[in-house]
Amino acid sequence: IYNIYAYKLENTTSPMDKKAECTSYKRVDGKVAVITGAARGIGAATAKLLAEHGAHVVIADILDELGSSLADSIGGRYIHCDVSKESDVEAAVQLALDWKGKVDIMFNNAGIPGFGGSITKLKMDEMAALLSINLNGVVHGIKHAGRAMVAAGKGGSIICTSSSAAFLGGLGSHPYTLSKEAIIGVVRSSACELGVHGIRVNCVVPHGVPSEMLVNAYRLALNRNDIDAEDVTKIVGERASLLRGRGGKLEDAAYAVLFLASDEAGFITGHNLIIDGGYTAANNLMA
Ligand code: NAD
Repeated sequence: IYNIYAYKLENTTSPMDKKAECTSYKRVDGKVAVITGAARGIGAATAKLLAEHGAHVVIADILDELGSSLADSIGGRYIHCDVSKESDVEAAVQLALDWKGKVDIMFNNAGIPGFGGSITKLKMDEMAALLSINLNGVVHGIKHAGRAMVAAGKGGSIICTSSSAAFLGGLGSHPYTLSKEAIIGVVRSSACELGVHGIRVNCVVPHGVPSEMLVNAYRLALNRNDIDAEDVTKIVGERASLLRGRGGKLEDAAYAVLFLASDEAGFITGHNLIIDGGYTAANNLMA
């Protein structure tokens, strides 16, 4: 994944430590990207990385202050976009078209967790509300970016954020798990349809990446309000990674998205790229 620059990375545990060298080669130079849920967390890290690699980025989120200031700092554009509303997602794609005349990369990343609760007490309206963001939001993005990409006739890369919860029952709430597994299905079916137009559709499947969402999840699970992102990275390194203490970083997910967005991933579509330090593969050994 980390291409030819990897050979320079002697004695380091992470290519991100050598970011300056990696970014001397711009892997999405001149491409236009729309990223939902980009005001913070994985989306923000990806927006910064894509911009460093030459992309023009539209940040679409509901956190207006954070989103606008990030857009300013990377020379991008911000739009208020609640992904559960189809017209908002359509407007985010349209902003890219109005701004730069095209959309090459769509990262459907916005999501919410939805904690706990027995399926025997599941409130269907709460489930519908979660699905309207986590699943409908992704479908809106595939639909409208796909439409623009098909019309332009130059291909494109659509990437959606699933979760290890899609593979491991019990990690998330029932609606969350359902939404994240459904994303994998719609990614596959869209990849089948859109491949003929040169449009690739893939998933990233993170686990243990210390965003605000994950820190909150650990605070709830451990009943400890004092823990922060650094603590979460440490805990993940100890409990949910095969990589000897190496916990996840936001950039781990961002680099995976950068790869799938780049032309170097030109023969990869309908794929789920798991970013979890081996946790999903080895889960039966790590309980
Ligand atoms: P995060 O909470 O830091 O970021 C989520 C972003 O989505 C925020 O900027 C939030 O404002 C935005 N958002 C929420 N609802 C929205 C809506 N209706 N419309 C537009 N934007 C909205 O958490 P994160 O971990 O960076 O989450 C990003 C994605 O990664 C989510 O889909 C999440 O389910 C997924 N994920 C994360 C992990 C992890 O380890 N962090 C693991 C598995 C999956």
